[in-house]
Amino acid sequence: MHIIRLGLASVVAAALAVSLASCQKPAAPGAVDAKRLVAAAGNAEWLSYGKDYNEQRFSPLDKVKNDNVGQLGLAWFAQFDTDRGQEATPLMVDGVIYTSTAWSKVFAFDAKTGKELWRFDPQVKGPKGFDACCDVVNRGVAVWKGKVFVGALDGRLIALDAKTGKPVWTVQTTDPAKPYTITGAPRVIKDKVLIGNGGAEYGVRGYITAYDAASGQQAWRFYMTPNPDGKPDGAASDKVMAEKGAATWSDGEWKKTGGGGTPWDAIAYDPALDMVYIGVGNGSPWNHMRRSGGKGDNLFLSSILALRPDTGEYVWHYQTTPGESWDYTATQQITLADLNIGGQPRKVLMQAPKNGFFYVIDRATGQLISAKNYYPNITWATGVDMKTGRPIETPGARYEKTAVTQVPGPLGAHNWQPMAFDPKTGLVYIPTNVTPFSYGDQKDFAYKAGAWNVGVNFLSNALPTDQATLKAIMAMVKGQLIAWDPVQQKAVWTVDHPYFWNAGVLATAGGLVFQGSAEGDLAAYDAASGKKLWSYKTGNGVIAAPMTYALGGEQYVAVMVGTGGGGQISAPASMPTRSRLPGRLLVFKLGGKAQAPAFPAPPQPPFEVDSLKSDGDVQHGFALFHENCQVCHGPNASGAWLPDLKRTPMLQTADNWKGVVIDGASASRGMASFARFLSPKDAEDIRAYVISEAKAAAAAQASPDPQGGAKAAAPIGR
Ligand code: CA
Repeated sequence: MHIIRLGLASVVAAALAVSLASCQKPAAPGAVDAKRLVAAAGNAEWLSYGKDYNEQRFSPLDKVKNDNVGQLGLAWFAQFDTDRGQEATPLMVDGVIYTSTAWSKVFAFDAKTGKELWRFDPQVKGPKGFDACCDVVNRGVAVWKGKVFVGALDGRLIALDAKTGKPVWTVQTTDPAKPYTITGAPRVIKDKVLIGNGGAEYGVRGYITAYDAASGQQAWRFYMTPNPDGKPDGAASDKVMAEKGAATWSDGEWKKTGGGGTPWDAIAYDPALDMVYIGVGNGSPWNHMRRSGGKGDNLFLSSILALRPDTGEYVWHYQTTPGESWDYTATQQITLADLNIGGQPRKVLMQAPKNGFFYVIDRATGQLISAKNYYPNITWATGVDMKTGRPIETPGARYEKTAVTQVPGPLGAHNWQPMAFDPKTGLVYIPTNVTPFSYGDQKDFAYKAGAWNVGVNFLSNALPTDQATLKAIMAMVKGQLIAWDPVQQKAVWTVDHPYFWNAGVLATAGGLVFQGSAEGDLAAYDAASGKKLWSYKTGNGVIAAPMTYALGGEQYVAVMVGTGGGGQISAPASMPTRSRLPGRLLVFKLGGKAQAPAFPAPPQPPFEVDSLKSDGDVQHGFALFHENCQVCHGPNASGAWLPDLKRTPMLQTADNWKGVVIDGASASRGMASFARFLSPKDAEDIRAYVISEAKAAAAAQASPDPQGGAKAAAPIGR
């Protein structure tokens, strides 16, 4: 009882401190500033994407705790007008929740009642969905001095009035003619809004830009790869590119693609050291041989960069994957903490990038303190050499001569789904999503403007026909929540999920770790033991991270619900079969009694294969499908989340099919015309191939495979 009362008292004290703080200034909504954000570790709000600049995703709130979490019930919910992936972490500032949905829409709600205060739709054009490797998602907004900032999928950074949701200023942060996207949350540091971009799968040159929060004026830009022209950019990166970066690149297709290195997620900030830390993405194309002739480390791909927030000036870098060749981004969340290592207090940053290793780095100097594989069965490297800080690669891992099936694949051992660090248990809770992938050299790779440009032969990821091979691949597909001791560099407990693409994590001082799952349960685990203490069926898959806040003496736990993202669209057979359902924001409190209506479960449309007929070339269609369509519709047309091509009425006639594939009849929903890449004859060959898959699927349904017949998918990733 005493502990509960103490918990309540601290919640009330924290809430009081917040309301006192906001009483001292005009009661303008969204009044976040540096003072408030730096002190955020002790308050009851959620002021920035990862809660505060440390990006620990740990809340000191403890009213909801391991002995009462069973009483957690729904307080209120909101339903959105989009059924694509929901990856955002909502913010809570002064009693208002600000969140974003797929297609970069922004919503404000009263955090206590759920009343919608305003909404903003940037009207991203449907065909832009083609440029989004991993769904048309958005991971959240930033709030600062009365404004709400959102990065729109089409590269705009938009400042909204926090009170009304009306745009105050808009800047185009990218060249609209190029396949850049924004899916990440902006962060605001010293009155500057920092935003990166994505698009390395298609061929872009990554950079991060800082804009003045009040006016939208550009303050500085830092490019992650050298200028292919060999000239300076007039940017903050010029000096270090000339001194260090340019010499790590050799001749190759990067001169056409721009080399990649898109920083699409991680940004953390240490105010005492005055350093901002940026996670940098993969190479473009992925394949190092095609990108840079197999030569050089290719700075700053797959690196953690420390920069000065005032100027963008380079301070240090650590490259997790030199000569990146597997889509092993280092964009994964960067978490700052003070750890006691070997009896010494150390200011560290921690990252679990896609490559499978957990890094603990001195954040003042960039010195590697330790690195260990957080996922046990990685195959591309056996460890990290502590003298050089470089991975010890497995022979053949670079697929120079033969294709190799590797763990992890491009979806990584950990993707964008946020981890959490609990300073009380000292553990990092990592949502891992492990998938194998067959990497093969696309020897004849030639850059095609605007297309998927990775230099990897995707035909080797078509489904194997041999059942034993299929079974072996499926056995490698795994989702786990791993509680990781960053000092000892070892797992303390793990929770296995039945499916691989699960949700981000929240840790609280109530001794709880919250995580959603592909099956749709939001669960609370005991932070020390991993024992499941509570769960709630959302009716839809969950991929986003929950957050928590206190208001009026109550603690709330909120989560965006709605599956989607890279794992859902590209690895269909590794996911539960479900229709696309509208996204929701669910908000829980102790004793909550609200009911969210069940989602209607529309049955899968039946196969209508009897009348299907095409004179197209099935073999040619198979090759074209895996080159152009597999990323969104699954290997062997196995995808069922984005429309199941085997069941679509569009398959029935050559004209309707051509209408979508060539003429762009579904462009407003994100299925852009492929006329740039395919001829009408090509489209018909693909139709002939999909018809063959539809007939096979209908036949399999009529006489089910005694082994269950689950088709495997070697998934592809962000
Ligand atoms: Ca990527």
